[in-house]
Amino acid sequence: MVELIDPQARRLRNSRRRALVLVLVQVLLLAHIAHWLLTGSSLAPLEPSEASRFAREKVINPGLIVLGVAIASTLLFGRFFCGWACHFLAVQDACAWVLRRLKVRVRPLRSRALRIVPIMAFVWMFLVPLYSRISSGGVQHASSEWVTESFWKTFPGPTISVITFLIAGCYVVYLLGNKAFCNYACPYGAILGASDSFSVGRIVVDPNLCNSCMACTKACSSDVIVHQEIKEFGAVVDNKCMKTLDCVASCPNQALSFQLSTPTVLRSSSTPNAPQRHPLSLSEELVLALGFCFGFFATHDLFGAVPFLLALGFGLVAAHSALALKKKNLSMKRSKVKYTAHLLAIVFFAHSGLVQSQALMRDHYFNQTFDMRMSYLRGELVLPLKLESSQNFLLADDYASRTTVLSYAGFERNDYVHAWRHLAEGNNKLFEDYMLSVLDYRPGFGEVIFQLGIHYGIQGDSQQAIEWMQQITADDAKYAAAQEYIEKIGSHLEQH
Ligand code: SF4
Ligand code: SF4
Repeated sequence: MVELIDPQARRLRNSRRRALVLVLVQVLLLAHIAHWLLTGSSLAPLEPSEASRFAREKVINPGLIVLGVAIASTLLFGRFFCGWACHFLAVQDACAWVLRRLKVRVRPLRSRALRIVPIMAFVWMFLVPLYSRISSGGVQHASSEWVTESFWKTFPGPTISVITFLIAGCYVVYLLGNKAFCNYACPYGAILGASDSFSVGRIVVDPNLCNSCMACTKACSSDVIVHQEIKEFGAVVDNKCMKTLDCVASCPNQALSFQLSTPTVLRSSSTPNAPQRHPLSLSEELVLALGFCFGFFATHDLFGAVPFLLALGFGLVAAHSALALKKKNLSMKRSKVKYTAHLLAIVFFAHSGLVQSQALMRDHYFNQTFDMRMSYLRGELVLPLKLESSQNFLLADDYASRTTVLSYAGFERNDYVHAWRHLAEGNNKLFEDYMLSVLDYRPGFGEVIFQLGIHYGIQGDSQQAIEWMQQITADDAKYAAAQEYIEKIGSHLEQH
C-alpha cells in the first residue's frame, strides 16, 4: 500500500530533518571551539584537512580519523557524510535557501572539465605530500596529536575565513548552483565521490511505480538527473548524489527508496546508446578549464594570505566569468548585478595575476639567496657582500617593491625580502627595522624571531640574542632550536 502523504509535506519534513542535523553539527563545532577558548586546550580539530598532516609528517590526529570514518561509511552507505555532516555544505544550503527566498534563480552549471578539479585538489593536498615524504625517506615513525593548545594553528584568520565562506560558500552557489563547490572544487568530495561508486547504499526505483514525472530531478540540489538515471540504471549512479533523500521524499508515487543494492561500478546501462547530456561544447569546457586555472593560480597564496580552498573558489568564479565572456553573455540589459559582478571579477583577477607574477619573480630571486642566508646564520658568511654577489638580493628586493606598490595586503613577505637585502649590504639597522615590521604584521613568527636572535648573537649582543630566543613559544617549530641556542650561548657566557 502506498502511504498517502503529500509529497510537498514529505519533502519539507526531510529538509527540516537534514537542516536540523546540519545545525547540530555546527553547534557541536562551536562547542568544540568554545571549549578550547575557555580551557586553552582541546581535542585537536575534527577537520578532514588536518589529515594532510599524516601525508606530510606522519601525524595521526582526529582529522585523519574523521576522514577515514567518512570514507569507510561512504564505501558502505554512500555519500551521506557530505549531505548530512559537512559544515561547508551547510553554508551552501543556507545560501541557496536565502537566494530562493529572494526569488533569485540559480542555474546549475553542468561541466565535465570542472569535475577533474576535486581530483587534482585531492592529489595536491594529500597524495603529492605523501609521495614526497615517502620518496624522500622523511619521517619514519608515526606520531599522534589528539589534544592541542594551538587549535587554530592551521586555519586562516577571521577575515580570510569570512571571505572563504562568502566566495566559496555563497557566491559560487549564486553563480554555479548549489553544491557547485562540492562537485567542482572540494578535495574531500573527490575521495568521497569515488568511494560512493563502490557503495551498496543507493537510491533505487521501483519501475512499476515510476511514471517519469521528473519531480525527483527537480528536487535534487546536486543537479543529478534522477529520472534519467533510474530509468537507465534502476538506481541513482551519479556520485554527485549526497543521499539527501530529497528525491525520495518528493516522488509523488513513492517509487524511490534508499536500499542496499548493487554498487555503481557493477551496474550497466539498460540503454547504452542513449545520448549523453553535455550542455557545454568542448570549446566551452576548455574555456572553463583555462578560466579556472587562471583564477586559481592568480589567487593561490596571494599576499601570502589566500588559502587553498579559497583559491579553488576563486578559480570557479574566474571559470564562470571566462565562460560568460566566451558566450558573449556579458550584457547590462540581461542583469545589471551579474554584469557588474563579472566586470569586478575580471578587474580583480587581472590585478591578482599581475601581483602574483611580480611575487613569483621576487620569490624566484630570493630563493637563489637561500644558501647565502643560511651561511650567514651559521656564522660562515661575512657581510656586506660584494656587488656582484648581491645581485639576487637586489633583484628580489626590486620585485618586492613592485609587489608592494601593486598590493593592498601581504607586505610581510616583501619586508622580509627588504630586510635581507639591507643585511646583504651590511646595513644592520635597516635589517632589524624590516624584521620588526614583519613581526608587526605577524606577531610571534618563530622563524623571524629566531633569525633576529641569531643575528644579534653574530653581532656579539648575547643578551639581545637570548631575549629574542626566549620569545619563541613551546608550540613553535623553532622552539627546540631556540632552547638549544640559549643553552649554547649561556654556557659560552659562563665560560668567559
Ligand atoms: S521516481 Fe518519482 S519523482 Fe522521479 S520520475 Fe519517477 S515518479 Fe517522478
Ligand atoms: S539524487 Fe536524490 S538523494 Fe541524491 S542528492 Fe539528489 S535528491 Fe539527494
